[in-house]
Amino acid sequence: MKVFISADIEGTAGITAWDEARKTHEEYAEFREYMTNELVAACEGAKAAGATEIVVKDAHSSARNLILSELPDYVRIIRGWSGHPDLMMFGIDSSFSAALYTGYHNKAGTDSNPLAHTLTGTISRLLINGEVASEYTLNALCAARYGVPSVFLSGDAGMCQEARDMIPQISTVATSEGFGPATSSLSPKGSVKAIRQGVEAALAGNLSACLPKLAERFELIVEFTNPVEAYRASWYPGIEHPAPRTLRFQADNFFEIQRAVRFIM
Ligand SMILES: [Zn+2]
Repeated sequence: MKVFISADIEGTAGITAWDEARKTHEEYAEFREYMTNELVAACEGAKAAGATEIVVKDAHSSARNLILSELPDYVRIIRGWSGHPDLMMFGIDSSFSAALYTGYHNKAGTDSNPLAHTLTGTISRLLINGEVASEYTLNALCAARYGVPSVFLSGDAGMCQEARDMIPQISTVATSEGFGPATSSLSPKGSVKAIRQGVEAALAGNLSACLPKLAERFELIVEFTNPVEAYRASWYPGIEHPAPRTLRFQADNFFEIQRAVRFIM
């Protein structure tokens, strides 16, 4: 069984402020360790469930966050951004049995996590077929393109709820809850324990029940906070610019949506 894990930081237990997620700030060192510990817990749970190969995508900011010396010997790690539209899922293919997500955060415009955002932070909302989407939405649909089900997510409680709204059978571990700029969260040790157990149980369950159905046609709407960004991105081939802050793009396969996202942000 091959397992793919996409690891972010803004849904890690305890994280509350941007300085804790940014490489250039002193506090980042501590939270990068918690991010790594949660990812390692997911790897251990997967291994215990019978995973024979685990590929991890470091998917936050520089994509060079995870502390490599902490990773188990049976893990392969993908770092940096290749430019491929699979972005946070780069490295996945149809040979994987399951996709997992750690440290995931809710989308821009939600209040379940002080660090909620979608991709770059320049977007107020991103919609797919009329539904406001998160990074997880994009990534679970990306995995589905390869026929890979999304079976586990850890992150803030709002993100976990959204994940279940899209894929009711997905297993989740709610690491934290936001209250405006504050958070209430599990301790890092508590989240590690819950993630390890959660992943092992998730991979022992019915994986194929966690495969979302891809629509026949996709409409992407991107609303930027600043119209300047929308103008700059409006030259992508085939894109519409119906309002100063809004871009619209349609395609009949999800890869074309991912490609547009890759180039307009
Ligand atoms: Zn991130």
